[in-house]
Amino acid sequence: MKIHEADAKALLVAQGLPVPPWEVARTPTQARAAAVKFLADPANATGKVVIKAQVLVGGRGKAGGVKLAGSADDAEDVAAQILALEIKGLPVRRVLVGPAAEIVTEYYLSVLLDRSTKRLMFIGSAEGGVEIEQVAKDNPGAIVYEHVDPLLGLPDYAARELAFKIGFGAHWKAGAAIAKGLLKTMLANDADLVEINPLAVISEHGAQGTPVERLVCLDAKITLDDSALARHPGHEALRDLDAEDPADVEARRYDLTFIKLDGDIGCMVNGAGLAMTTMDLVKRAGGEPANFLDIGGGAKSDRVAAAMRLILEDANVKAILVNIFGGITRGDEVARGLIEARAQQERDVPMVVRIVGTNAAEAAALLEAARFETAATLDEAAAKSVAAARGTAA
Ligand code: GDP
Ligand code: MN
Repeated sequence: MKIHEADAKALLVAQGLPVPPWEVARTPTQARAAAVKFLADPANATGKVVIKAQVLVGGRGKAGGVKLAGSADDAEDVAAQILALEIKGLPVRRVLVGPAAEIVTEYYLSVLLDRSTKRLMFIGSAEGGVEIEQVAKDNPGAIVYEHVDPLLGLPDYAARELAFKIGFGAHWKAGAAIAKGLLKTMLANDADLVEINPLAVISEHGAQGTPVERLVCLDAKITLDDSALARHPGHEALRDLDAEDPADVEARRYDLTFIKLDGDIGCMVNGAGLAMTTMDLVKRAGGEPANFLDIGGGAKSDRVAAAMRLILEDANVKAILVNIFGGITRGDEVARGLIEARAQQERDVPMVVRIVGTNAAEAAALLEAARFETAATLDEAAAKSVAAARGTAA
């Protein structure tokens, strides 16, 4: 799950990382009030504020979602403009307002889960402020990689080495401390990615008005591990439904595990292992599954109906295979759900149903009365659904 810059920055601050102050505004008036405060800050060397769209996509700068404003009026106007934008299909509902930094140097620093080595990995570069993928293409030598054992963490010597390799110059101590802080943020929140771009040396007005430089997290992107959300009760509130596929939102509402695929045979199965097996057998029968769908144990009829709606939302689906092994799940409940779902169905798609286990006989009677096509074995069900998708008889 991706979270917004402002929320990511709050997680960084909680781990003691240096982040310039900010406020979140939902209206131009709120943005103006925040701007008045930051414009009056004696440390602000630019005399301006920065206003940034809070949307879950990269490259907001290029899309017109990051702008500077030099007065309260200007801030209100700019905020109104940005709040009216749609960036890469996402509406801007909030903006971040902060003092506009006087940027001296822009770096890139991130820590992420590297699945191929089963370790965590830092990626750093002195070429910050631009997309790291672009740097990797144009100037791969400018990127530094450092693997970390999740149990050992980043020892001081490794943090210093990383900081020197990236080239923070006089700010190497701060760079090393920030690297350690990013790892702490990652582990404390079960994040998959903590990315700072730019990590910037900025210049501020010191006590006597003399310029003082410091290294700060100017932008922040954090991706949380969905499977660990249950361990962090506060994180669910950070979810932005605008950025999610409506099918995913619907699936979560009914506790369904749904993954859309490219084929044309919709699959409704209970249990992840059985769902995988069902997909394998559809493939072996010459078909292509349209989705992975696990309706879970003890699925009641409303969940079955919701699962059917999800499958049918995919216009590619030409046939549906229902494969239920009744353990805790009762076959007759599923059958009732299917009958209810078909009654509401707007699109007529052939369906092949195999229900075995608990209350299979009751299920069979219900399905027969409702004139559903059934199958006794999974092989038969797979063959029949493939034939149905092709419009031929099995
Ligand atoms: P992104 O485009 O979504 O990654 O948004 P960023 O927060 O990284 O902003 C994009 C770019 O805008 C940065 O690389 C900076 O060059 C610039 N920028 C962002 N904040 C400030 C700021 O406070 N002051 C100045 N001068 N430029 C900024
Ligand atoms: Mn950025």
